[in-house]
Amino acid sequence: MRKKTQLIHSGAAIDKNVGAMSPPIYQASTFKQNGVGNFTYEYSRTGNPTREALETLIADLEKGKRGFAFASGMAAIAAVMDLFQSGDHILITDDVYGGTYRYMTKILNNRNIDVTFTDSSNLGEVKENIRPETKAIFIETPTNPLLKITDIEALADIAKENNLTLIVDNTFNTPYWQSPIEHGANIVIHSATKYLGGHSDLVAGLVVVDDEKLGEAVHFIQNATGGVLAPHDSWLLIRGIRTLGVRMEEIESNTSEIVEFLVNHPQVGNVYYPGLPDHPNREIHAKQSGGFGGMVSFTVDNEEKAMEVLNKVRYFTLAESLGAVESLISLPAKMTHASIPRERRIELGIEDGLIRLSVGLEDVKDLMEDLQQALD
Ligand SMILES: *Cc1c(COP(=O)(O)O)cnc(C)c1O
Repeated sequence: MRKKTQLIHSGAAIDKNVGAMSPPIYQASTFKQNGVGNFTYEYSRTGNPTREALETLIADLEKGKRGFAFASGMAAIAAVMDLFQSGDHILITDDVYGGTYRYMTKILNNRNIDVTFTDSSNLGEVKENIRPETKAIFIETPTNPLLKITDIEALADIAKENNLTLIVDNTFNTPYWQSPIEHGANIVIHSATKYLGGHSDLVAGLVVVDDEKLGEAVHFIQNATGGVLAPHDSWLLIRGIRTLGVRMEEIESNTSEIVEFLVNHPQVGNVYYPGLPDHPNREIHAKQSGGFGGMVSFTVDNEEKAMEVLNKVRYFTLAESLGAVESLISLPAKMTHASIPRERRIELGIEDGLIRLSVGLEDVKDLMEDLQQALD
């Protein structure tokens, strides 16, 4: 089955009871048992048929063994981190999502789990940072907001040699373009709030694992800690995922036109996009992913100029988040990455005049005219 077909027909696509084309929303906390211990569903924290329809769908799409739905991307990340114990050490991509950075440095540290931020696009640096107590590597590729690329397959080899779990946050590229498990990852995480939901109307997180044992461990944590996605939101997310293919295709073509426009604009400095010929890891990305995605960052002279652009745009909405039908614009230094100290931020290349776009589904001519008038 090809990707677009899979999006429509995977998971429990048609309800078994009455043939409903849209899965029923089982808005129930508990279920009648046929006798003590004789049941399919017991209690909705442990398992809910609507959530399970979503969990099966994402497991299929990510080519994994089992899927799990959580109340947010951060709840999904926290649940995966519960796999690790006091004394463990974890390697993490240096420019991860700000909320992930905050979780790793403010919560995980308190549990005596040490983390090292490393440039995961540099495999030599990753190897140097592996210690005897290292248990996992957590990466994003492409990263946010500088669109750095890590070679998943090469990193998976390093992980295997050292007996480490490879965790990939696949939020930016989505399973429509990129399947980390096929390249050797063990766990895939999503903020489904972004492209998978796709309509700025829900907050959700997903986890997919590549083997049964990990599946049992994550299910134990999901049930024990309880950050589950509600039935109605599970249904809404299934609905969003059905159109992921057409959305990602259209976003891809809109973004490539916008990138070309930005590269040629005199007020624009650097443009960060994995599809650009001068992107250092363009070939690696093209090898492991079918598309370059809808996220692009660029610099203008300084923060003042960036603020001016943000104030002048009409179709790009100033907002956090990404991946929805509407185009969004943001200033990472002041918004998504504000929790990272300035010194560290600049070190990472997230300058004060860096603008991030999440390209949506408006007519690309309107989007380009909008940027044109804001930049000029
Ligand atoms: C938004 C985001 C998260 C956090 O997800 P929430 O749904 O906001 O909790 C994690 N990783 C990435 C890459 C994100 O963009």
